[in-house]
This record gives sequence, structure tokens and C-alpha cells, in this order.
Amino acid sequence: MHFPIPKAALQLLHTLKAAGHEAFLVGGCVRDLLRGKAPGDYDLATRARPEEVRACFRKVIPTGIQHGTVTVLLGGMSFEVTTYRSEGDYVDGRRPLAVHFESSIEEDLSRRDFTINAMAYNPLENCWVDPFGGKVDLQKGCVRCVGDALQRFSEDGLRAIRAIRFATTLNFELEENTQKAIPQRLNVFAKIAIERIREEFLKLLAAPQAQRGMELLLHTGLLEIFLPEAMHADFATATRPAQLLPRLALLLMKTPNPQTVLQRLKFSNKTTATVLQLIEAQPLPPPHANDACLRRWLSQTKLPHWKEALATGEALEAREESLAQRIEALLAQNPALSVDKLALRGKEIGLILGSRPGPHIGKASRFLLKKVLENPSLNSKEALSQLLRNWNK
Ligand code: ATP
Ligand code: MG
Repeated sequence: MHFPIPKAALQLLHTLKAAGHEAFLVGGCVRDLLRGKAPGDYDLATRARPEEVRACFRKVIPTGIQHGTVTVLLGGMSFEVTTYRSEGDYVDGRRPLAVHFESSIEEDLSRRDFTINAMAYNPLENCWVDPFGGKVDLQKGCVRCVGDALQRFSEDGLRAIRAIRFATTLNFELEENTQKAIPQRLNVFAKIAIERIREEFLKLLAAPQAQRGMELLLHTGLLEIFLPEAMHADFATATRPAQLLPRLALLLMKTPNPQTVLQRLKFSNKTTATVLQLIEAQPLPPPHANDACLRRWLSQTKLPHWKEALATGEALEAREESLAQRIEALLAQNPALSVDKLALRGKEIGLILGSRPGPHIGKASRFLLKKVLENPSLNSKEALSQLLRNWNK
């Protein structure tokens, strides 16, 4: 074990043990501990029934109590504690009809998706449970289904994209039968709710090895089902930026209507708007653009996203030098980039022009902004008033 297990997790196991309940750390955290990586969260499996777990702790949320899961809050952390269970028959390729509580950890592990995710560890007893060779696969760098891959992908279509997601984020190989089974169960994958697919896809796309992940999605046929618009994208280019949203923008750059695609994937309005802005911010100013040109671009690009917009364009054009430092320096001078930062407000403009509020004022302030983007030192009441009077003539 290369990574310290948090005190709260040990305390939780102690408390369950004192009440006579067998329990283990399980799933992703065991995998990550063995890899020497800090787990994102700690899940536990126990023989105790949800009500018994509840009785052991002060702060418990009945997260999914009918499926055997409660969340225990302890030492500032939260833990999902799930009663050993197996899953009844899957009828629709999405969710089991029923779950059954079980009495052994091995039965619980056998319902899990991949061998590397089907290990359990109890640090109090230093007890490992690894019935499917997860440790060996972890060492080999191999994503392999627990049991028969075709059957596991028939039960639950989400597992197909999870296999590729883990192969990508861990930079592992897909075991041969696991990989071969994916194209044979596309019909089951196609039934999965798009939000669940999207979450796995985003984890894949955020990974350093995302280019390989995209290629696996393409070659197994999964991409054609949930994101055919990205099939002809250049994956090397799209995965050049480090950030997730520029990657997404680059995948959708050539589709005629990226908004429709983002909405079909049920992205939030905020994410959709950001990705669209990253696309609209292209093309970038040329590498040797002058300051005025950079300010005009910044003014059009919604400010919070300029870095992502820049990363998107620089990847697209495979630029070797970045404009980032020059833009930082420009922004440090705090230039007016929008009409509300002009030294003259709409009312004052109206007074000078002798006109009522209306489109004329808007036109005047856009004219002033254009001048100020050209030359920021013009942004004073006097200089703008002068410009305005000349404009009005
Ligand atoms: P991550 O670090 O990305 O959260 P994880 O392994 O914890 O990875 P989760 O999606 O949080 O992944 O799932 C927790 C555990 O539940 C997995 O390790 C696996 O044992 C099991 N699991 C999750 N989804 C499935 C599934 N569709 N079929 C079978 N087992 C699953
Ligand atoms: Mg997890």
C-alpha cells in the first residue's frame, strides 16, 4: 500500500467491526490505493444491512437505501457504505430488476464490472479479497470484464464505454475478449441514458491519453451511436489543449450545428454557451497582431473564457507560440473592453447628442468603444465627448 488511508475511513471500519459487522474498502479506491494514487472517494461494502449501518453512526444519509447504500459523514469526509448485494436479472440492458442482499464479499465483487474494480481490502485485518485477479491485471495494465464479457455488456450497456474510459484514464490495454465484445453489443449500449454516457465520455476526454480513447470509441462503434458528429474530427488536434471544454469545442468545430449536438447530450445551458463561445471566438488574431487587434478579439470573446478560447484556436492552428503572455500584459492595464466600461454612460451620451434613449445611443457607444479599443487613452469624459460631437456632425 503506497498511500495512507484516511483516519476517518479506519474509524468507520473500526466502528462497524465493534458492532460485529464485516466490512471492506471496495472498488475504485482499492484500485487507486494499489496504484499509489489518491482515491477520489472511499466506498465500503459490508455484510450489515442498511438499517444496521445507520444505527452505528450519528450522521447518515439514506442515499439509496432500497439498493443498500447509505452515506456516512465522518471526520469531514463522506463514505458510501453498501450492503453486499447481487443484482437480479437485467431485462432492458440498463438496470437490474431487483437487487438482493448477499452474505459474502465475493458475491458482491462478482457483480462488479472489471477485475481491477472488483477487489476489496480491509486495512484493520490487512485482508485482501481479489477473486478475479484484479491485482495481476492492474500490474499488467489490463481492463478485463469480470466473467464473460458478452454477457456483462448485455446486462448493462454502460459498461462498454466504462471499459474504454478506464483503458484511457489508466492508459491500460483492453483485454482481447473485452474489446471484441463491445461492437457485438452496441444495441445494448444504445439504450443507455445520454447523461450517463456523457459523464463517462467527459472523464475519457479529460484524460491525458484522450486521443487514444477517442480512437477506441471510433473503432468499437460507440462514437457513431452517441456522437457521430465527432467521427471525422481530427483527434490529435482536438486533444492538444489541456482543458476539457476546448477539447469538446474542437471535436464539434466542423459540425454545422454544434448547439443541437450539445443539447442532445443534455449539457447544462452554461456549458453549452461556453463551448459555443469557444467556437465563435475563432479564428484567433494572427500571431503578430497588434495590441488593438488583441483588444478587439478580447472584446468579442467573453472575458472569463479567453484562455480556453485561445487554447482552442492555438491547437486548431498548431501554433508554436502562444499569445497568452501578451494578453495577460494587456489585461493588466485594465482596458475598456465593453461599452459599460466607457468613461461616458448612456445618459451622458444622450445629453451630448441631445437625443432620447434608443438605438442611436447604442450606435454611439459602439462607435466610442471601437475608438477606445483602438486607443485606450481615449477613454476619458473629455476625449469621448469630443469624439462624439465630431461623430454627430
Ligand atoms: P472513479 O475513480 O472514476 O470514480 P470508480 O471505480 O470509483 O472510478 P464508479 O463509477 O465510482 O467508478 O463506481 C464504483 C464501483 O462500482 C466500481 O469500481 C465498480 O466496482 C462498480 N461499478 C460501477 N458501475 C458499474 C457498472 N455499470 N457495472 C458493474 N459495476 C459497476
Ligand atoms: Mg468512484
